[in-house]
Amino acid sequence: MGAKKILILGVNGFIGHHLTNKILDETDWLVYGMDLAEDRLGRALHNPRFQFLEGDIAINREWIEYHVKKCDVVMPLVAIATPKLYVEDPIGVYHLDFEMNLNVVKQCVKYHKRVVFPSTSEVYGACTDPEFSEDESFLTVGPIQKERWIYSCCKQLLDRVIYAYGTRGHLEFTLFRPFNWVGPRLDSLDTAKEGSSRVVTQFIAELLMQRPITLVDGGHQKRCFTYVDDGIDALIRILANKDEVCKNEIINIGNPANECSVRELAHLLKGIFTEHPDHRADKAYSEIIEKPAEEYYGKGYQDIYTRKPSIEKARRLLGWEPKVNLEESMRRTLYSFLEENKI
Ligand code: UDP
Repeated sequence: MGAKKILILGVNGFIGHHLTNKILDETDWLVYGMDLAEDRLGRALHNPRFQFLEGDIAINREWIEYHVKKCDVVMPLVAIATPKLYVEDPIGVYHLDFEMNLNVVKQCVKYHKRVVFPSTSEVYGACTDPEFSEDESFLTVGPIQKERWIYSCCKQLLDRVIYAYGTRGHLEFTLFRPFNWVGPRLDSLDTAKEGSSRVVTQFIAELLMQRPITLVDGGHQKRCFTYVDDGIDALIRILANKDEVCKNEIINIGNPANECSVRELAHLLKGIFTEHPDHRADKAYSEIIEKPAEEYYGKGYQDIYTRKPSIEKARRLLGWEPKVNLEESMRRTLYSFLEENKI
């Protein structure tokens, strides 16, 4: 058997580009990748084990089908995964995250290819369990008028479709659920300027632009932030799938030790920023203000108050343990954001 061939759709995305570079650096696998752009891929573009097509999942269907057939494992990572956009463009979320990905999943069934699919911690929704368990927790969402939940529902239905194909012997799959991964190149400064970035990059960008940091509903909601290198380490183990340990499994990938409230996060990032060598002497720093969720996101938003993973399964199946603590995760993310956006 030759080297493993992996198809990554959305290869230039946050997870896609980190994963691709790690695969090329540490394995002998081949990567075939497609995305709308290539700006985050860096050194991967010069690697002979990487082939890139600038393309669109909705348009380049023949290329995708050809490569599903050709590869051993398929990772469809194309998705909108930012809460601001769930409420602004729910139909776009449905179309891209559900319909387009369902097509790819069906091709994996057709050609008997293993799919490693990004589910999401968002599927647990407003679940009140102290730690979310892949195989036990209820998946709890709000009313239809709260359009935020369309992302959770799209992902959940895909999880269920994939699972059903799997249990009937038509598809080999692993579903992974990232919990608030952070790191270099998570979101761009432009995205943050529009206010449609994820919380960590939104706060860092506000600090850089000296605009106020907004705590939605007082910032008491909690998340467990996971450094991307830890997440990618787990994904490499899932792809390697030694002794088929991940066959037809659902696996949380998060760092429960890195739990903090949005309010604590704002203070932590502000502290790191004010000590940064380029900003130590700034005359003024962003204020930390509060806004009601409806004002910040609009009527269709509903928040999630806690989101903490159980990672027992990842530990047991993958022998994996996240290593980068909260402060270090934020420091690295902030330093690299400032480096990328140096004027
Ligand atoms: N949030 C905030 N201020 C912002 C952006 C986000 O207080 O400028 C909050 C948001 O309401 C949510 C949390 O931060 O409770 C995390 O938001 P994010 O967009 O990162 O995604 P989520 O973890 O909800 O998927």
